[in-house]
Amino acid sequence: MANRKRVLITGAAGFLGSHLCDRFIKEDYHVIGMDNLITGDLRNIEGLFKLENFEFYHHDISKFVYVPGELHYILHFASPASPIDYLKIPIQTLKVGSLGTHNLLGLARVKKARMLIASTSEVYGDPSVNPQPEEYWGNVNPVGPRGVYDEAKRFQEAITMAYHTFHGLETRIARIFNTYGPRMRLNDGRVLPAFIGQALRGEPLTMFGDGSQTRSFCYVEDLIEGIYRLLFSDYAQPINIGNPDEITIREFGEEVIKLTGTDQKLVGAPLPINDPKQRRPDITKAREILGWEPRVSRAEGLKITYEYFKSLPETEILHKDFTYYNKK
Ligand code: UDP
Repeated sequence: MANRKRVLITGAAGFLGSHLCDRFIKEDYHVIGMDNLITGDLRNIEGLFKLENFEFYHHDISKFVYVPGELHYILHFASPASPIDYLKIPIQTLKVGSLGTHNLLGLARVKKARMLIASTSEVYGDPSVNPQPEEYWGNVNPVGPRGVYDEAKRFQEAITMAYHTFHGLETRIARIFNTYGPRMRLNDGRVLPAFIGQALRGEPLTMFGDGSQTRSFCYVEDLIEGIYRLLFSDYAQPINIGNPDEITIREFGEEVIKLTGTDQKLVGAPLPINDPKQRRPDITKAREILGWEPRVSRAEGLKITYEYFKSLPETEILHKDFTYYNKK
């Protein structure tokens, strides 16, 4: 099968990276996964190691990156992606989005590969327009706790666009909104695993602030389809990929209580600094250019994700520390 197209996926052992590996294996690509395993977990890609069209490099892409042989596509999905992670590893978060992206762009040039980067709704910061269209420039505090992620991702977009315009590199920029599904880390501190974990342990659900802030949750399968279509489109400008079904965090907590059947209630907890008050993607461009829109409802996606979390070993469910459970 020497003529399989070869794709490098960074963050391969992470939530989105591992689902992308699965998708490209399914489409009969040769997949080269790369991860430094700080927040990734090899269990997410365990099943792929036996395949002849999968290989894995344990590597930190903020250092020089090289992969022998041809490379047709690079999907850059390496980065911590939860507010708890940015607080714990702020420098790595900055480095992977900046130095890591630069290294991969260099590799893409050498290999004449097309590169897609995972950007984020965080480039919009705490947005003053809702929903957020791609033309909105954002409202980011560079020195706040989220600044290390937001600014790394903004730099990532800027350098990717510069390689596109200056070097003529083929690039794609996905602005990913809140995404959930199996393989999320139960203890990554994000609201969905936090609420489900609390329900499973019989604890109150910690609602930050008054719960009036909104988010719009996209099921992972939909997200992966959007990324796949974007990679093979000819659109080099940033494009929002997310589910526009917006909900307040309070209502979301109520949904989790109903779904899990827990007798626990929502309890108030302090609102983190610079926590965006509203977030909802305007997906007009994705609809028109990629012919894409989400298909999985929150009710369906939440049920699948709840079953996944329930199936984890009890020690993991009980382990509450918001840290890298697979590292300690
Ligand atoms: N949140 C919450 N309880 C938690 C964790 C998060 O109420 O235990 C809130 C958080 O303040 C934010 C929203 O849920 O308004 C989504 O937070 P998350 O960390 O999942 O991601 P974000 O979208 O802020 O990056």
